[in-house]
Amino acid sequence: MEKKHFETEAIRNQDPRSQNREHSVPVYLTSSFVFDDAEQARALFADEIPGNIYTRFSNPNNTELVNKICRLEGAEDGLACASGMSAIFTILGALLKSGDHVLASRALFGSSHQILNQILPKWGITTTYVDLQSPDTWAAAVRPETRLVFVETPSNPGLDLVDLEWLAGFCRDRSLISVVDNCFATPYLQQPLTYGLDLVSHSATKFIDGQGRAIGGLIAGRADLVKEIRFFARHTGPSLSPFNAWVFSKSLETLAVRMDRHCDNAFRLAQWLETRPEVERVIYPFLDSHPQSALARRQMRQGGGVVSFVIRGGIDAGRLFLDSLAMLSHTANLGDARTTATHPASTTHSKLSEADRLAVGISPGLIRISAGLEHIDDIVADIDRALAAVNNSHRNNPS
Ligand SMILES: *Cc1c(COP(=O)(O)O)cnc(C)c1O
Repeated sequence: MEKKHFETEAIRNQDPRSQNREHSVPVYLTSSFVFDDAEQARALFADEIPGNIYTRFSNPNNTELVNKICRLEGAEDGLACASGMSAIFTILGALLKSGDHVLASRALFGSSHQILNQILPKWGITTTYVDLQSPDTWAAAVRPETRLVFVETPSNPGLDLVDLEWLAGFCRDRSLISVVDNCFATPYLQQPLTYGLDLVSHSATKFIDGQGRAIGGLIAGRADLVKEIRFFARHTGPSLSPFNAWVFSKSLETLAVRMDRHCDNAFRLAQWLETRPEVERVIYPFLDSHPQSALARRQMRQGGGVVSFVIRGGIDAGRLFLDSLAMLSHTANLGDARTTATHPASTTHSKLSEADRLAVGISPGLIRISAGLEHIDDIVADIDRALAAVNNSHRNNPS
């Protein structure tokens, strides 16, 4: 199929119909596939012909989803995994060996830190953290044994960015494998591979599903690297369930319209929060007050669905704010049709030390909002009510 617009690719890139002439792709809930004869079985196992053998290796629903994400990310090849974390661990486990060193941005998803800090060192793989805001310090952190660079942009929840074009050059000059967790942007807002980066990972659980139903992860990028990753996954078994693959493939059909609304609601919410006296600071990539807003506008189609803000009054104000919400969901998930609110310091990033949290911009009063698809006026009204509750408590208990 000749390359069409993003929206069309996300919808029209589907498996050929079966003999049943279905319009929407069916779910292939089968653990294995039958061989026509002994010679075909031999050829399939020898990788001489393409085809499904066993669902841990491949399945039509997973293949369809992977083909779709590859078209959307501009990738040569990809793989579907059981969760965003299994996608990240599979990349690192497949490509790194004992003695290797990783350069990672300090602002990473909490479980990514746990893999780098607690799990990979068991196999002699070490990590140095660098700051997204100061790329001039990265070169000094590279060692002869550095093999891979891992970043998130925009980061969760500080919404810092790295210049993807600069990063591609930095990694190319030093022959480092580059991996971008593209979960917050989705391929609709930014496509790291088109700058020459090697691999992207996704938590499909977030905006790709978009409705808080299923856990899954995706990998897309350079064919030679995906080949090593596929070997690792085939034998270690982090494969995605075909049912979840079907859910994500259907979800991708609506990604563009959903992201337009997520981003529109998030931007309007961010602008409104900036006018509020209870709020110390609002962080959103497309706000003029964001130190990297020019870069955000260069490499992202829109600013994303997540807004972070610092409420005056620190941890107590943050907790009171969350307890005063009536409609918004207080939950650790994001990228849902329902607007969600999280307090990273006490939940998703609680395993980091206070110093590490502050280094990635997670102050005690930081609140992360993932703007959903409800009407913006109702989202704002609920936050307005919760901010008023915080305000009243300040007035009643001046400290
Ligand atoms: C949620 C998330 C992950 C982990 O994904 P799971 O599907 O929960 O395993 C990784 N990276 C980012 C940026 C995330 O938000």
